Amino acid sequence: MPRNAVWRALAGWVAILLCLGVYWFELNQTHRSQLDQVEANVRLRAEQTVHALALQVSTMVEKLDYLTLQLGQSWLAEGERTFRRTVSVAQHALPEGAVVQVAIASERGEVLFSSLVPEDATVAATKVSIADRSHFAVHLNRAESGLYISHPVLGRISGKWTVQFSRPLHREGRLEGVIVVSVSAEHLSRALRDIFPDPADVALLLRDDGAYLARSHLLEDVLGKSVPADRRFLHDHLVSHGFYDVVAPVDGVERYYAWRRVQDRPLVVSLGLSKSAAMATVRESVRSSGLYNLVATVALLLAALWITRLYLLKSRQTAALAQAGERLEFALEGGDLGTWDWNCVTGENRCNTRWARMLGYAPGEAAPDFATWDASIHPDDRKQVHEALHAHLRAETRQYQTTYRMLRRDGETIWVLDRGRVVSRDEAGRPLRVAGTLLDITERHVVEAALDAERLRLTTLLQRFPGGVLMEDAAGRVTIVNRGMCELLGIGDDPAALQGLPHDALCARVGPQRAAWLNVPDARSEGERRRSVELTDADGRSFEIDWLPIMRDQRQLGRVWLVRDVSDRKQRETALATLASTDALTALPNRRSFMSSLEAASSTLRSNPERQGVLLMIDIDYFKRVNDTYGHAAGDKVLCHVADLIRNGLRQQDAAARLGGEEFSALLLGVAPADARLLADRLRVRIAESSVDTGEGRVAVTVSIGLAALDSAGAEVALKRADRALYAAKAGGRNQVRVYTGEQP
Ligand code: GH3
Ligand code: MG
Ligand code: MG
Repeated sequence: MPRNAVWRALAGWVAILLCLGVYWFELNQTHRSQLDQVEANVRLRAEQTVHALALQVSTMVEKLDYLTLQLGQSWLAEGERTFRRTVSVAQHALPEGAVVQVAIASERGEVLFSSLVPEDATVAATKVSIADRSHFAVHLNRAESGLYISHPVLGRISGKWTVQFSRPLHREGRLEGVIVVSVSAEHLSRALRDIFPDPADVALLLRDDGAYLARSHLLEDVLGKSVPADRRFLHDHLVSHGFYDVVAPVDGVERYYAWRRVQDRPLVVSLGLSKSAAMATVRESVRSSGLYNLVATVALLLAALWITRLYLLKSRQTAALAQAGERLEFALEGGDLGTWDWNCVTGENRCNTRWARMLGYAPGEAAPDFATWDASIHPDDRKQVHEALHAHLRAETRQYQTTYRMLRRDGETIWVLDRGRVVSRDEAGRPLRVAGTLLDITERHVVEAALDAERLRLTTLLQRFPGGVLMEDAAGRVTIVNRGMCELLGIGDDPAALQGLPHDALCARVGPQRAAWLNVPDARSEGERRRSVELTDADGRSFEIDWLPIMRDQRQLGRVWLVRDVSDRKQRETALATLASTDALTALPNRRSFMSSLEAASSTLRSNPERQGVLLMIDIDYFKRVNDTYGHAAGDKVLCHVADLIRNGLRQQDAAARLGGEEFSALLLGVAPADARLLADRLRVRIAESSVDTGEGRVAVTVSIGLAALDSAGAEVALKRADRALYAAKAGGRNQVRVYTGEQP
């Protein structure tokens, strides 16, 4: 993982978390201020409403005050009957059930009149007294001369909770009684409830000593009770209005309370607006805003997480790609490869620096377009290059590959190997991008050209070579073979068909006789020396076979067989040898040949003394005369005739020769001198009795024969002795046989 990418991702996360922190702080502040704002609005509403309520209550009390005043004067001025009617009218003018009772008490507290007691019944009979009630007692001794509003009391006659509005009745400055108008606490509460029907909100009517007079809801729970003693209006009578937030002890609801004193009356009106109801909308709005923001934040964090993952992945891929790119560039540089990337649509051709350097350009100097490359191709090769490229663009070849010449910027020609492939095509198969490599192969091309020339020379030499040439590599596979070898081996005339053939397969193909030619000598016994053998086949043809290993540093790289048909040479050699040992005229062995046969026989006899041999020297008598008489040609015919007789007169194992002129010799083996003499004599007689037609006339000649035994003394000695015996025969009259006796000189 690239370190930079990790740091960047971390920095991104810190920034995101910081922004989120600030955002959430601001959001919280906004929510708080929204709540504060709403709270302030609620308080304002409560204050305004309680103000209106206080005015309403004030009006109501004014009315009741007026009612007590008027009814009191009516009581003092009129009789009970009229008073009852007035009360009845007044009660009907007021909401039904509002005034529960109108009562008149005497100055001693006895109830003189009650609207609840029918007209015919006497109130006194009831003996009801309110002397102990505060709303009566308060008027004694002029303690309260105006309207008095009592704590709610449970009516002794009505049985209902009522608030007593009482006023003293004075006649001529003397207390005559007290009028009491009992107003239903329930009625007061209902009036409040009509304005605030929701039990979450509450309106209270209190005495300024804290006693409940009315409550818009749950009145029965508070009647006879007072608000908690900590309420400010209980202590600070100079303050006319104010606020407090409490959880109502009556119903456990938390409210914003606004209170206000009723002007000139010992009354306090308090209005409590439910906190939860008042704030419900804004709280809901804050809650859903918080929820939306939380969801958005989580989504944002998840998105950031995903983006981070993608970023790190991309970084890793980018780093890997950069690394791979570096490695590729390094490998290409190392391999001396130029690269190109041709956009077929725009004509742009991006090449690396090695490509540019190959053509003599500094990096960035060559225009990166197709035309730069095209212009650099040698004019003679351009057609071939275009054909190869277009064949690949048409998808006829798997890749574009060609070797051609390019002209460097300095005019120098280089040979290059250019390879490429289409890397993308459009839907119609038209090429969009082609990429490839360029390799400078000038040096290799020079070497290959030289090698080609060498190969051509070698091939020519081999095909012209008068014989067969076969070369195998170190693994024993045929690398070079010429037509001559194919013909000699009897396997057609196509050397190419044998290329790469293993040695054993070749031997199997040529058959056992020819395979013998291709024996590979054992290197351990034969060493690395050349071996040459001559073999004769069934047809009597002779072949000379040379085998030699190709060695370098004690290592065999291969081996060569050279095979030549030497039959003609052998024939010529035999003919020459025959010529050298034969007398041309008579076809008998000549002197030199006879002498070597004589030496051989002599040495045989030396090692085997029991074996015998006799040497004859034969000379034609008066031959000169034949020549002189019949001519030299006739003489030659006579010589041939005598030679034939000698040859035919001898046994198979005997040897005859013409030693020179008209002189012949014969070597008889395994014959005793006496037998030899008989044989020689028979020969002499046969010659003497024969004649030859020379063309110039028939000619007959005789011969003289000298005879000597071949013994341990040697050939030369035997020859001399036979010669002497011959001389003796001549001297003795010719046409005779003489044996060397040792007495001849
Ligand atoms: P003799 O009885 O004493 O042997 O007498 P001859 O005439 O045979 O002996 P001589 O040595 O006087 O003569 C030999 C002759 O043989 C001389 C030479 O002209 C002849 N001669 C030698 N070589 C050839 C040959 O190749 N062809 C012919 N036609 N004559 C030859
Ligand atoms: Mg002679
Ligand atoms: Mg002679």
